[in-house]
Amino acid sequence: MRKINKIIIHCSATKPTQDIGAAEIDMWHKKQGWDEIGYHFVIRRNGETEKGRDIEIAGAHCKGQNKNSIGICLAGGIDENGRAENNFTDKQFQSLRNLAAKLKKEYPNATLHGHNEFANKACPCFDVREFFKGMV
Ligand SMILES: [Zn+2]
Repeated sequence: MRKINKIIIHCSATKPTQDIGAAEIDMWHKKQGWDEIGYHFVIRRNGETEKGRDIEIAGAHCKGQNKNSIGICLAGGIDENGRAENNFTDKQFQSLRNLAAKLKKEYPNATLHGHNEFANKACPCFDVREFFKGMV
């Protein structure tokens, strides 16, 4: 089994009106020349959780951290002008809580992080530490 010590949260940097999921991201990442979608999970605007890359295969979502992490992407994160914005739905946040709890059971040593802890980026456009207070 792959050793997992981090769960890293991302956003798709799409507008709230864009109802995208794992299939669209898979297409975008393939266009960039990757094998397949770089994230292991995608949470759609309606809160539905979709599977991306197999969890046993290292992702392509966070430079320097892919080997031992799981990548989760929430659809959204920018406003109509393309600026970073915390615009995720309650259903998305609820699904993120559920998914994180499930993964923490499977990988008790894994800690929860935002992409912005490892890169000079706004991603995922909300404070992951604050969100998971008591759980990280
Ligand atoms: Zn990211």
